[in-house]
Amino acid sequence: MRELVDKLEENKVLSKEEYILLIKNRDNEISEYLFERARAVQQKYYGKKVFVRGLIEFTNYCRNDCLYCGIRRSNRNAQRYRLTKEDILNCCREGYELGFRTFVLQGGEDPYFTDERLADIVSSIKEDYPDCALTLSVGEKEHESYQMLFDAGADRYLLRHETADDAHYRRLHPPELSPERRKKCLYDLKAIGYQVGCGFMVGSPYQTAENLADDLGFIKELQPHMVGIGPFIAQRDTPFRDMKNGTLEQTLIMLSLVRLTLPYVLLPSTTALGTIDPTGREKGILAGANVVMPNLSPVSVRKKYLLYDNKICTGDESAQCRSCLQMRMKGIGYETVVSRGDCVSPEPDAQN
Ligand code: SAH
Repeated sequence: MRELVDKLEENKVLSKEEYILLIKNRDNEISEYLFERARAVQQKYYGKKVFVRGLIEFTNYCRNDCLYCGIRRSNRNAQRYRLTKEDILNCCREGYELGFRTFVLQGGEDPYFTDERLADIVSSIKEDYPDCALTLSVGEKEHESYQMLFDAGADRYLLRHETADDAHYRRLHPPELSPERRKKCLYDLKAIGYQVGCGFMVGSPYQTAENLADDLGFIKELQPHMVGIGPFIAQRDTPFRDMKNGTLEQTLIMLSLVRLTLPYVLLPSTTALGTIDPTGREKGILAGANVVMPNLSPVSVRKKYLLYDNKICTGDESAQCRSCLQMRMKGIGYETVVSRGDCVSPEPDAQN
C-alpha cells in the first residue's frame, strides 16, 4: 500500500484498481502515511499557509430538487430568503475589512437572479474591490450566461460534479438533471477562462469505492484549479433523511488522494467536515487541504441556508468565524493569509 502512495506522489498514473485499494484502506498506519505525504505536497507548493474565502450565501431559493439538499424546491419547511445587492455589498465591505481577498457568492438556482442582475452585482463588487477575486457558485447555466458573468468580472466558478458516475448521478438527482449537462458546464467554464472547481460529497447514498475512484479519474481528466469535497450529511426534510452520513475517515482519505493526484490544487477543508467532527477542519488541513471558507452571510439568514442538518457557525458574526478559524489554523501550526490565494500553477494542464 505504501508503494501506491509513493507512486501517486511521484505523479505516476494509478489504475482504477489501485485507487480503489487506497480508497478502501482502513489501516490507520497507511492512512497516516497517506496524510503525511499529502501534507508534504501541500507544503511544498503552498507552505504552511491557508487561504481564506469569504462565503456569502445570497439566496436559498432553488428551482432544482436534488434529493440530498435541504434547499431543494420541494422542501416546504425551508424559509426562503434572498439578499439584496446592498446586503451583498455590505458583506463584502465587512469581509474586506476582516482581510478577505476572495468572495464566494453561493446560492440555489434562483431565477430572480437573472444574468443581468448577477452581472451587475459582479461588476459592482469588482469595481469596489479590484484587488479581490470573485467566485460564483450558482449552478448550471448556458455557455453565454457563463460568458456574460465572466465578462462582468467573475474570476472563478465552483460547480461540484457531485459524482462522476452517470448511474449514481441519476440516483441523487431528479430526472430533469443530467450528468452530461453537469460535466458540459464544467468544460464550458474552463474554456471561457474561469478558474474552475469541481467536487463531490463523500459517503453520499449508494456511493461505492469504485464511484470515488471514478471521481478521482474525472478530476485528473478535467484538471480543475479547485476541488470541493465534504461528507454527505442527511437533511431531515429531504428524501435522504434516513441515509447514513459520510465519515470523517473516508473524507480525509479522499482529500489526501486529491492532493496527491493534483499537487497544485486549491482544496478547501469544508464546513461539512467541521460539522461531522469538532476538529474536522483542522484534520482536513492536516490531510492536505489548504483553504478554509468562513461564512460572511448576515447572521439573520445563516440558519436558513441549511443544506444539511446541524450545520456549524450559524450563530456567529463574520468576525467571529474569521478569528475562530485563524486560531484553529494556528493551533495546528498553519497561518491564514490575506491574499487572493490563486492557484500556484498558472496552467494546471501543465501539472503532469
Ligand atoms: N446551486 C449551487 C450550489 C449548491 S450547494 C450548485 O448547484 O452548484 C453547494 C454544495 O453543497 C453542493 O454542490 C453539494 O455537493 C453540497 N451539499 C448539498 N446538500 C448536501 C448535504 N446534504 N450534505 C453535504 N453536502 C451537501
